[in-house]
Amino acid sequence: MFDSNLDREAAPEGTNLRRRLFLASAAAALGGLALWQWKKPTVLEAATAAATEPKEVKVMSFSDSGQRLKQVRIAKVVKTEEEWRKQLSGNAFDITRHADTEIAFSGKYWNLHDKGIYRCICCDNALFDSATKFESGTGWPSFWAPIAAENVTEIRDRTFGMVRTAVACTECDAHLGHVFDDGPEPTHLRYCMNSASLRFVKQV
Ligand SMILES: [Zn+2]
Repeated sequence: MFDSNLDREAAPEGTNLRRRLFLASAAAALGGLALWQWKKPTVLEAATAAATEPKEVKVMSFSDSGQRLKQVRIAKVVKTEEEWRKQLSGNAFDITRHADTEIAFSGKYWNLHDKGIYRCICCDNALFDSATKFESGTGWPSFWAPIAAENVTEIRDRTFGMVRTAVACTECDAHLGHVFDDGPEPTHLRYCMNSASLRFVKQV
């Protein structure tokens, strides 16, 4: 129904865009086969929509030594792109605010074995305990459970032609990574995280 030999790269900018949009709608009508047409990940759109409505969230608070304190109701952390950009390194900004993924074996924590907790790089919300960290062999820090279920939010992520479950910080919507169901006992889950989304607090 459309010519796949069209040379999109050679077309003038406007034509190219219109053609891409047309191809996108045509493919979407045929069953959503053109996910690559959208550069912006679905998970980010969800996070952006949530961020425009400040609201309260419930999270479990933890001491730096990993002690579970109490559930608190706090205002969701909402900042502008510019504020996040100032606060974070370029890598952490791209990953947490734009759902990027760090290169495997490049982060600070994939091979860390110290005892402690991992907090959100953006807002300090407690996210993972080293007690649930395991060797996944993937080059990303991997855990079989979050420190408290309410501290992370899972979002269906249909980017890059895959259906995955993205994991975000409940308190600030930072993108953390994805969760898969091929982890070890007792949960059989694998929370595959980006080191750059985390800040490790060593138990002293
Ligand atoms: Zn956070």
